[in-house]
Amino acid sequence: MTEATRSALRSEELRAVREAQRTTVLIVGGGINGIALFRDLSLQGVDAVLVERSDFASGASAASSHMIHGGIRYLENGEFRLVRESVQERNALLKSAPHYVKPLRTTVPIYSTFSGILSAPLRFLTHRTGKPKERGAVLIKLGLTIYDLFSRDGGSVPRHKFLGRRRSLQELPQLDENIKYTATYFDASMHDPERLALDVLQDARSSNAGSFALNYVEAIGSDDTGVLVRDRESGEEFSIAADVIVNTSGPWTDLTNEALDRETRFMGGTKGSHIVLDHPELLRATQGREIFFEHSDGRIVLIYPLKGRVLVGTTDIEADPREPARCTEEEVDYFFDLIAHVFPKLTVSREDIVFRFSGIRPLPRHEDTAPGFVSRDYRIELDESGSVPILSLVGGKWTTFRALGEALADRVLAVLGRGRTVSTAGMTIGGGTGFPATDAARSRWQQRHLSGSGSRADALLARYGTRAADVWKHIEQCGDRPLAGATLSTGELEWMVHNELVVRLTDVVLRRTSLAFTGDAGFDVITRIADALAPMLNWGETRKQQEIERTVQYLDDAHGTSLETLARN
Ligand SMILES: Cc1cc2nc3c(=O)[nH]c(=O)nc-3n(C[C@H](O)[C@H](O)[C@H](O)COP(=O)(O)OP(=O)(O)OC[C@H]3O[C@@H](n4cnc5c(N)ncnc54)[C@H](O)[C@@H]3O)c2cc1C
Repeated sequence: MTEATRSALRSEELRAVREAQRTTVLIVGGGINGIALFRDLSLQGVDAVLVERSDFASGASAASSHMIHGGIRYLENGEFRLVRESVQERNALLKSAPHYVKPLRTTVPIYSTFSGILSAPLRFLTHRTGKPKERGAVLIKLGLTIYDLFSRDGGSVPRHKFLGRRRSLQELPQLDENIKYTATYFDASMHDPERLALDVLQDARSSNAGSFALNYVEAIGSDDTGVLVRDRESGEEFSIAADVIVNTSGPWTDLTNEALDRETRFMGGTKGSHIVLDHPELLRATQGREIFFEHSDGRIVLIYPLKGRVLVGTTDIEADPREPARCTEEEVDYFFDLIAHVFPKLTVSREDIVFRFSGIRPLPRHEDTAPGFVSRDYRIELDESGSVPILSLVGGKWTTFRALGEALADRVLAVLGRGRTVSTAGMTIGGGTGFPATDAARSRWQQRHLSGSGSRADALLARYGTRAADVWKHIEQCGDRPLAGATLSTGELEWMVHNELVVRLTDVVLRRTSLAFTGDAGFDVITRIADALAPMLNWGETRKQQEIERTVQYLDDAHGTSLETLARN
């Protein structure tokens, strides 16, 4: 089935699922890991239904540090398998999703030569409790050498480099003058995680006419025929029967199992927050690199240029998944301390924050292990005690989603007694297919597919990868007017509604675009988008006003973007 014929509104998908009443595999949870499984199974010709109670990739998958990384510090926990897999997946994503995953030069400022060297390697072999200590140059050198070794795949990224104080300060003059060295290596940054997740989802939908993905549909219980779900838009409830159920609810995995009458105690998530700063001086100070370091209490910190803003994170605090995760004032104070620690000449204030976000990592239950040392690896639990087998995913980072989707699909195929027919290794993702790799190729591609789009060509290619050709074709046919400066238009919005399963205003403001992330979702912009969406989604005046209110309230509550700030923008 071609993509064009699957460009259905959610209501059509919903009707198809309700009429069929059953599927082969029901996946509960549409974060990146549920979506990765959905793609893998769809490609094998296995019919699947994915239900997500909110929007796709709006849970932990929307709260990441936007890094596709090998996880150098997991070496400290002795997680060599995970680091090797992560580095391999990072290198693969640079090629399969080059529209959203880009090489990221990362610099670690180092204050001591030996700190941490005695305690940390012992953790390879011993328990992982205790307070983390600042890592010294010798330890970081050791880690980076192992990291380079795992990265050897024909040079996806260059090797690491160590510099002394003088050269380091020449390269990054705003850095704290008390540093002794810097270490610089490459990882990758993920510019639009939510859009990348959507691309994986679209690839699945277009590969299998029997696979359906429904956002705003929640698994709320089980009945004689299968899983009872509720459409959160209409309030209607119905059952979906399946041969296998897979619980990919991330930090909420135990809660979903509870709803399905299974008691599990797999999860022990920790909260992590970030702030986004509109601070041109700090942006310049980073010189386009991620500054990745450790505070004196041993926690990992990043200061990172993204979309013309600076992302600062993160924390690691025990959390209850029943409570919404929010970035607190204490966390903001902590981030400001860190910035002052690394860039003491710069002043940052709350006025500079345009967006905050927070989420819970889907970590395994970890008793007395300190949050920073809890395994980031994943495992799969199979429960065959009921009439339908349930697989639960425990853990799983963004970086490893493809490999994890494959491992999880293999377990599902084994339960179904079926074999694998297609591998996702090396398969390009969505608008990463045919993505122009050089400046010359890029301008040729734009001339050929985006001719007439003028100054919008770069923005279209950045947002959609090579899918931009379809978007532009649509815009040319349907007519167009600007909605949010140069960054969004009515034609683009219409394309999103028809192709990207938009249900609510927040879907557009937070996940189909980066308007909220960059602080560009002012009240005026939100209202104009709502006005344009209303006829496309058949909203009456009341629904439209509700959508505006809900968006304003959510931005304030979850992202610290108050009405005052919204009015300014
Ligand atoms: C602060 C922080 C920083 C991170 N940084 C990175 C990083 O830089 N790089 C990296 O690789 N990883 C990072 N991670 C980890 C990564 O983001 C997550 O591990 C990954 O996104 C988990 O994806 P998931 O699909 O398993 O879970 P989720 O994205 O949480 O998806 C689970 C989904 O299940 C849905 N759901 C729950 N209950 C139900 C139900 N009953 N019915 C239907 N749907 C339901 C939820 O709404 C949710 O969308 C970070 C995580 C955090 C929190």
